[in-house]
Amino acid sequence: MAKREYKIVKERLFWSYSNLAMAHTAVDRKQEKYTTFNFMIRAKLYKGLCDGTMNVRTLFDDEKIKILLGQKCSYCGNTKDLALDHIFPKKFGGKDSGDNLIYACRSCNSSKGKKDLMEWMTSKGQFPPLMILRRYLKLIIEFCDKENLMGTSVEDLKNQNYPFNIEFVPVSFPKPNFLVMTIE
Ligand SMILES: [Zn+2]
Repeated sequence: MAKREYKIVKERLFWSYSNLAMAHTAVDRKQEKYTTFNFMIRAKLYKGLCDGTMNVRTLFDDEKIKILLGQKCSYCGNTKDLALDHIFPKKFGGKDSGDNLIYACRSCNSSKGKKDLMEWMTSKGQFPPLMILRRYLKLIIEFCDKENLMGTSVEDLKNQNYPFNIEFVPVSFPKPNFLVMTIE
């Protein structure tokens, strides 16, 4: 099968979200590698998201998760010097609403600065905890839905002043044993 390129915004975001669901099941089951079962979940979700028979679940589940996460840095687990970090940087229109805010220590907060979350993680050679990535992807999907960008080509979204950098939305994920749900 030819390598897909996911050139349309919708395809890229849904493919990333479907990979996230795949990774989620594998980490949940403490697998070291992805199996046919995980790939089936990914394929089914991707198809459903694209044809509109499935949708990205609301941000409400994440509110529960956020409470469970407790007061620690969502990126490194530090419990001291906490601040609220904007997933979408404020400078690019990120809001002060619950979906966009997570706890981060001052060190991570200032290191991330106004960089895109995935761009920042990639620059450190890391991959974010799945729960954080989930919030980030949902924010982007919500944004693109609202701004009518889902059918646009990925190319057209580059170098715009959007609160995320589409180039860093991951289309392939690390093996499950390199992933965590949340920082312990
Ligand atoms: Zn931190």
